[in-house]
Amino acid sequence: MMNKDLKFYKATKVDEAVKLLADNKLKLLAGGTDFMVDLRNEEDFLNGYDGILDLSHIDEIKKIIENDEHVEIGAMVTHRDIVDSDLIKEYYPALAQSAGAIGSTPIRNRATIGGNICNAAACADTLGPLIAFEGRAVLKSANGTRTMDVSEFVKWPYETGINEDEILVSFILPKPEEGAYSSFQKIGRRQALAITRISLAVKAVIESGVIKEINLVPGSATPVPTTFSKVEAEIKGKQLSEIDPKEIGEKAAEEMIGITGERWSTPYKKPALATLFRRAIKNLQEEVANNG
Ligand SMILES: Cc1cc2nc3c(=O)[nH]c(=O)nc-3n(C[C@H](O)[C@H](O)[C@H](O)COP(=O)(O)OP(=O)(O)OC[C@H]3O[C@@H](n4cnc5c(N)ncnc54)[C@H](O)[C@@H]3O)c2cc1C
Repeated sequence: MMNKDLKFYKATKVDEAVKLLADNKLKLLAGGTDFMVDLRNEEDFLNGYDGILDLSHIDEIKKIIENDEHVEIGAMVTHRDIVDSDLIKEYYPALAQSAGAIGSTPIRNRATIGGNICNAAACADTLGPLIAFEGRAVLKSANGTRTMDVSEFVKWPYETGINEDEILVSFILPKPEEGAYSSFQKIGRRQALAITRISLAVKAVIESGVIKEINLVPGSATPVPTTFSKVEAEIKGKQLSEIDPKEIGEKAAEEMIGITGERWSTPYKKPALATLFRRAIKNLQEEVANNG
């Protein structure tokens, strides 16, 4: 049950929001799609808070801005805005695909990218692509601004590196290099059993058929999505057409077990992850062959 003494605050500027946060202990509200579920399911969800601070009227963090070197995506940008953005589709296809794979149309219309990352579920679909694109999170408080790699932002499922007096205002993504490819795939649906959700974000840079850079970030395979550095090292510098997708799938499954150990979900996740890696490499080979 919600505490009747809780105050409801609404800010229209980031500066106003961080001042309110400096003076009060407030739970932030964005699109509310995780917030409302937690409020219903967790009795102590708002315990210890003075109130709720609604971020949904802050227009300055609802924008996608391009400059010479990077693209800045506001934390209050919805998944729908991402799916509809020509800029995101052109530069960061994997991010557009991940936002399009979230929930249903009404959820995508409300839910924000900032909320998806701050909620920090292992299955948060935009997390893998943001890590694969080497994004940085921009955090603001009344004391100033700091940035953090998205790969460092999530510490553990549902735990982030954000302080209580800070707001996540945006993500900064470097612009793609020449020869950059990316993709996102997901198996399973949220309404089904949790183990049926597993995803893979890939970002690669291919030069004359050789893999110059590759970031492979599965979602839900490990407690916190992370790049699979052993498989990446295996592939990097090799001729793409000479890579065996099946072998890479098997190595990825081994790397996952190396991180998590054998768990109750391993019999499902092992072949599912191997399939995602196999498909991703095969698709990349086909895409590069068709473009070349
Ligand atoms: C039916 C359903 C289906 C879903 N399907 C999927 C799915 O397929 N894939 C998927 O990844 N997710 C899914 N979700 C989860 C959800 O929609 C996302 O995690 C969503 O992006 C959260 O954003 P929001 O704006 O609703 O955040 P909110 O619910 O408002 O907030 C989430 C958390 O983040 C904090 N927060 C929000 N914004 C900020 C900020 N700017 N700074 C600091 N803290 C902040 C809040 O305090 C809260 O703790 C689903 C949810 C539902 C209800």
